[in-house]
Amino acid sequence: MTLMITADCINCAACEEECPNEAISQADLYVIDSAKCTECVGYEEAPQCIPVCPVECIVVDPAHVEDLPVLRARYEAMHGAPCPDIGRGLSAA
Ligand code: SF4
Ligand code: SF4
Repeated sequence: MTLMITADCINCAACEEECPNEAISQADLYVIDSAKCTECVGYEEAPQCIPVCPVECIVVDPAHVEDLPVLRARYEAMHGAPCPDIGRGLSAA
């Protein structure tokens, strides 16, 4: 799955700089672009945005259920390079 930000977001911006894919941006509240989120696969063992959120409003998005091959392919499409074998994605957890 990619992740999403719920309406509990307090616009603190802590998550934005943690995202290696620049998938997080500010709209009315902060949002995650599902076309860019790899659950941090290719960069980190676990999503970097979730632990920095002070109100725990970053959750899995049931509308974007994706397995590891999809997340790896997204990394490769975005970066034009093989996806490092880092991270398994939440779907495999
Ligand atoms: Fe960005 Fe990783 Fe959070 Fe997805 S899980 S929004 S790639 S920091
Ligand atoms: Fe919103 Fe949480 Fe991101 Fe802060 S860290 S901007 S509260 S989603």
